[in-house]
Amino acid sequence: MKICVDMNKCTGLGICESVAPDYFEVGDDGELRVLREEIALEDVSDLEESVTSCPTEALWIEP
Ligand code: SF4
Repeated sequence: MKICVDMNKCTGLGICESVAPDYFEVGDDGELRVLREEIALEDVSDLEESVTSCPTEALWIEP
């Protein structure tokens, strides 16, 4: 599974980073960076939480 971001929707609030810091990082410039795309099995629930917590619905998971 893979985490995907619509950068046109992301506003760099960083909630995803606080839920899954191994996967997301908001830089000093306010831009979100995806640190890894492939989701490890043990991280699936964290990434699902990041998807539902994103206020702009910019995240989704692809199988
Ligand atoms: S929670 Fe959503 S809007 Fe905020 S940085 Fe992450 S992807 Fe972007």
